[in-house]
Amino acid sequence: MSPMQIALVAADRGGVVRLSELLTCGASRADVRRAVARGGIARVRDGVFAHPTADALVVLAAEHGGRVACVSVLRRLGVWLLDDDDRLHVLLEPKGRRHVHTGCRCVDHRDAGGAGFGIVPIERALVQLQRCVGDESFFAAYESAWRQGRLSAGARAWIREHLPAGKRWLVDVARRNADSGLESILRLRFHRLGVAMRSQVRILDVGRVDFVVDGILILEVDDRQNHDGESLRHRDLMRDARAAAAGYETLRFDYAMVIHDWPTVERAVLARLERARARSRRTA
Ligand SMILES: [Zn+2]
Ligand SMILES: [Zn+2]
Repeated sequence: MSPMQIALVAADRGGVVRLSELLTCGASRADVRRAVARGGIARVRDGVFAHPTADALVVLAAEHGGRVACVSVLRRLGVWLLDDDDRLHVLLEPKGRRHVHTGCRCVDHRDAGGAGFGIVPIERALVQLQRCVGDESFFAAYESAWRQGRLSAGARAWIREHLPAGKRWLVDVARRNADSGLESILRLRFHRLGVAMRSQVRILDVGRVDFVVDGILILEVDDRQNHDGESLRHRDLMRDARAAAAGYETLRFDYAMVIHDWPTVERAVLARLERARARSRRTA
């Protein structure tokens, strides 16, 4: 086989190919050596080669021994992630070896089913995320991917089926219209506390608010992107005043509070709720 033909086989396989596949396609070992010498393919590690235009992350995962997986797939797609984990997560064959390479900090995954090279589909990456990082990360990423239009009904059903049975409720309470990952996290935590909240509620004279709890308490969550410039601060104060006039109380939280100081947020909400409930019991 010519170097050009060998390069085409590699491109055809998604950019990375095993020596054994090239030999099966009719190349000799001498052909492969020539293709490497002419730059048609590059050696990734023993017995694995990449096309020059192959995706760098796919090549790195192949160097480690498998396929781009989990967090790494979702980060690449711009799905909202709770944790700043920039390590490469790699799906290895169930009994496949990990190959430590220069700068290797990879996180290994071994699922049932094959690995090969390339990038795992988003639905499989989400199921991996639940096992690897946890429920909250999964829930927020799932709602984010759904909001981005990346999860078909078939993909959502596949995810539900492949989650552990005790985790399927996460999918059942998820919604497509969460405004931000932070909002997803907050809704999940209050769901666990047995506090029901409506999200993205439109209130006359106030506009759309993030959450309304018990029909009386408004919760607003400022995501990282919302810088508190003067005009935004003024807008928030106006909203709070209008909400108060309409009979609501407002509590505001930011990213740091929800993520790093959850007990403070929880106590504030539960205390306000208790007070509001006591008041409505007295007036009833
Ligand atoms: Zn992982
Ligand atoms: Zn590695």
